[in-house]
Amino acid sequence: MVKVTLLAGGVGGAKMAEGLAALDDVDLTIIGNVADDEVFHGLWVSPDIDTVTYTLADLIDRKQGWGVSDDGMRALGILEALGQPIWMTLGDKDLGLHIYRTMRRAQGDRPSQIAHDVARALNIKPRIVLPTDDRVQTRLLTDDGELSFQEYFVREKCVPEVSGLWFEGIGDARPTPEALDVIDRSDLFVIAPSNPLVSIDPILAVPGLQDAIVHTHKPVVAVSPLIAGKTVKGPAAKMMSGLGMEPTALGIARHYQGFVDRLVIDDQDAGFVEAIEALGIAVSATDILMPNAERKAALASQVLEFAA
Ligand code: GDP
Ligand code: CA
Repeated sequence: MVKVTLLAGGVGGAKMAEGLAALDDVDLTIIGNVADDEVFHGLWVSPDIDTVTYTLADLIDRKQGWGVSDDGMRALGILEALGQPIWMTLGDKDLGLHIYRTMRRAQGDRPSQIAHDVARALNIKPRIVLPTDDRVQTRLLTDDGELSFQEYFVREKCVPEVSGLWFEGIGDARPTPEALDVIDRSDLFVIAPSNPLVSIDPILAVPGLQDAIVHTHKPVVAVSPLIAGKTVKGPAAKMMSGLGMEPTALGIARHYQGFVDRLVIDDQDAGFVEAIEALGIAVSATDILMPNAERKAALASQVLEFAA
């Protein structure tokens, strides 16, 4: 068994998690992102953790990549009638999980314990670990003012230009004992093809967490979220441009330079191999699009081979 720790955001992270979870010889733990968390209607919503959870539980709405399949919007209809903003699409079934999480938090339970219990109750085999139990939230400076990530992504549909980004609360955040423990025992680290700026960075920015990974001296392999200069879905390329980064596989390599020792990029980006190697990062170019279960598992096993 190879003990693999995957750092993952939402949709891109969940695809990689599914691929790795499908392999027999992998003991998988996912360290997820909590910096997209936000309170809606008094309920604590944790979009990235829920996307990974619903995906591994096979409850995910496969067409959207997030939310629960076959869900309804009746509760949101009532909230709208009551004058509440309902831009954050929360289905009726999905709300059940947010009610449960909010109740457990109000009882004083640690967020990471709650995430673990949810995964167990939904019969998920991989462990889902939170990087921190403390409040950390991604904030964006845009030409439309300061926004949370959900406000930018869902309410404003990524239209505003992003010129600044920070993680509120990060200075005081402490890593969870579970995260440090799993890092310590991991044979290999995989950085999912998630948005580096808002999904992976807030995990690595928890004080002590990235150092703990580096100190293991184990391989760290990232998969590029960009293919031919484009995101498969979401604002990663646009945000990278806005923040002065090159929105390509090479830009991803530069961003992770010094931390990641191997990068998996798409065949279409094979022209960047030399430039990435010059950064001291080993490169493998292959098909990194994951449209279905077969391709997810195929990419996961290539990632493992490349790391071996
Ligand atoms: P979010 O939190 O839901 O936005 O999801 P993530 O941050 O985990 O992932 C978003 C990133 O996943 C985007 O930059 C996409 O380009 C990338 N992505 C989505 N599907 C795929 C895929 O099949 N292959 C690769 N390589 N990247 C993907
Ligand atoms: Ca996210």
